[in-house]
Amino acid sequence: MTLVRRVTEPTIEEFEEYTKRLIKLSYPGKYVFTCTRCGRCCSGGPNVSLTVFDVVRMARFLRMKWKEFLKSYVKVIIADVIPHMLLRGNEKGHCLFLSWRHDGKSLCVIYPARPMRCRVYPILVESLKPQKLYIDPRSPGVGQGKERDIPQKLIEAYIKERIRHYTIIHYYIVKKGYEPLQALYKAIEDAWSEAEQGAEWSNLDYIESLGST
Ligand code: SF4
Repeated sequence: MTLVRRVTEPTIEEFEEYTKRLIKLSYPGKYVFTCTRCGRCCSGGPNVSLTVFDVVRMARFLRMKWKEFLKSYVKVIIADVIPHMLLRGNEKGHCLFLSWRHDGKSLCVIYPARPMRCRVYPILVESLKPQKLYIDPRSPGVGQGKERDIPQKLIEAYIKERIRHYTIIHYYIVKKGYEPLQALYKAIEDAWSEAEQGAEWSNLDYIESLGST
């Protein structure tokens, strides 16, 4: 795990430019997208934020202990006392799980256990309410192919996990007085125990059944 305590904030102009280009989606609604396997969305990192549930699913898939997984693949940023986890990238910003097939198409080596943020891409869930969804116009697959329904079950499961993630961490920091990192570790331990007891969210077939983009 890499721990970074200071982050370079985008300028207001950069942020405005980025948000201006996002396309707002109606919810429930439709969108037009076909993945071209270009790998671009996996190459601009670290930009994939993780919940404790993502971490547990990925670590179990790789048959690793969660601390070992954190150390190898996760960057933790502490901002205003809240710990945030991001998937690490290599020196070119490519996700460490990105690989390439012989035909030049991208391949995610942990595809069945990929983080929720990757599952819903190019849809961007920018709040804890499904009514605030955007589509990332930088993806070359946006606007290609047939119109599709927004995968509501998946989006709602992702939002539920994000709410639980922040609620648990908040509880350990605010109510129990833990340091941010301690609170994060405790939240992952709790999620790990839930998974060991067979929690639905830890079942990859169940997650797959929620749909994809
Ligand atoms: S986890 Fe997989 S889908 Fe997500 S950014 Fe990495 S390579 Fe891409």
